[in-house]
Amino acid sequence: TSTTDSSSQNKPSRGAMPPGMVMGPDGKPCKICTAFRNWQPGTTNYTEPAGARNPQKQAQSIPASYSAGFAALASGPTPVVVDISKNASSYGRPDEPPPGCPPDVEQLGRATWTFLHTTAAYYPEKPTPNQRANMLMLLRSLPVLYPCTWCAQDFGEDIEKNPPDVSGRVALSKWLCERHNEVNEKLGKVTFNCAKVDERWKDGPPD
Ligand code: FAD
Repeated sequence: TSTTDSSSQNKPSRGAMPPGMVMGPDGKPCKICTAFRNWQPGTTNYTEPAGARNPQKQAQSIPASYSAGFAALASGPTPVVVDISKNASSYGRPDEPPPGCPPDVEQLGRATWTFLHTTAAYYPEKPTPNQRANMLMLLRSLPVLYPCTWCAQDFGEDIEKNPPDVSGRVALSKWLCERHNEVNEKLGKVTFNCAKVDERWKDGPPD
């Protein structure tokens, strides 16, 4: 991935996204490939539009185009500067886009993994041919449609090497856990124990 940092103009193979705004294959900044904290490197301050915690006012103050990253919000009416290092608890996780704003690469990732793991957890033990075909289509559509381009490309390469196992719930959940672990490893995160995939996504922790 290339970034606005001139020292890394090309996408590293199988590497984590480097800090800084990630550039898309078209050479333009790719917001959905970038963690929100890296949209404006070097700052933990961001500008919250006036009334951003009031959904009605928020709808009025967030620019529809959102074209220049979160900085665009600063041009909204009567901005209020919020230091997220002091107010992180108001927004769930520190450094994530505030409510009502488009997701960053991490929010999109968490939401997508939640959908995929939960769908796998409730996939039939003995799927019909139609269910198998649709699950295959869903998984194979990700490399084509997932909006974080580099994520999609790497995921596509991974599933070429490790074709989806849609034969049943247990096999699919394991396969997906392994694919998620590939991404975890790439990003330098701790890998997940796939023996606990049902506990995490279906049954919950034992009493
Ligand atoms: P996530 O990794 O989003 O995980 C959410 C929850 O899932 C965790 O809290 C944990 O409880 C559980 N979990 C973790 N690992 C597993 C597992 N193996 N099996 C089952 N459950 C698990 N981001 C990038 O920066 N670069 C990429 O190239 C990239 N590629 C992606 C490809 C895909 C297909 C998807 C869906 C996302 C990708 N992401 C990528 C996003 C990235 O994987 C994370 O979602 C994001 O960094 C947020 O991480 P997180 O630590 O909050 O938890």
